[in-house]
Amino acid sequence: MGTPGAGKGTQARALAARSKACHISTGDALRDAVRNGTPLGREAERSMGQGLLVPDDVVIGIVEDRLAAADCQGGFLLDGFPRTLPQARALDALLARRKQPLDFAILLAVPREEAVRRLAGRRVCDGCGTMYHLAFDPPRDAACCDRCGGSLAQREDDREETIRHRMDVYARETAPVLDHYRKAGLLREVDGTGSPDEVLERLAAKVA
Ligand code: AMP
Repeated sequence: MGTPGAGKGTQARALAARSKACHISTGDALRDAVRNGTPLGREAERSMGQGLLVPDDVVIGIVEDRLAAADCQGGFLLDGFPRTLPQARALDALLARRKQPLDFAILLAVPREEAVRRLAGRRVCDGCGTMYHLAFDPPRDAACCDRCGGSLAQREDDREETIRHRMDVYARETAPVLDHYRKAGLLREVDGTGSPDEVLERLAAKVA
């Protein structure tokens, strides 16, 4: 968990690669659906572009399907879910049914202005999904991916005004979910500032 720009996606991918857990990102699943023009993608596109949340039942359905998939039977790492209290409660019920309780929830803590700076400079390759940052991790050529030569684009929801909107949605809808896990004794906080490698080491120490 953490504000947009806290580094959830980067760290979840890296952490999953080091373990048997699968990586479940509702944001990635929704972006795939938008790219593929599926009915779900068409429904989600407008909310995502405006920095709003897509309906709870849509994301709960995505997570339920992924948890049942073969690659998730050795464990899972949720990224960007749950983002509302109803999602957190639905997840509790789903995991109780599956007899697969959560081990912990991690909050990646990054000051808001730092997160905004990270998001505004973020660029993503439309070919292979590699992420860059114009200031902190620039590609050799601002328009092309170093790895595959694909074109680099800014996520529509990484534009400055939409970022502010996403931050407000986080404070209103997602911050209460932290209390849900704090009360359950499951919340672990990790300092999310510094380089991705530094954060990963801190994170790995917390989940060991
Ligand atoms: P992310 O990549 O996690 O920042 O997600 C990008 C966008 O996808 C969000 O701004 C929402 O519009 C949507 N989204 C992702 N996960 C959720 C979720 N758990 N609940 C509602 N909307 C979500």
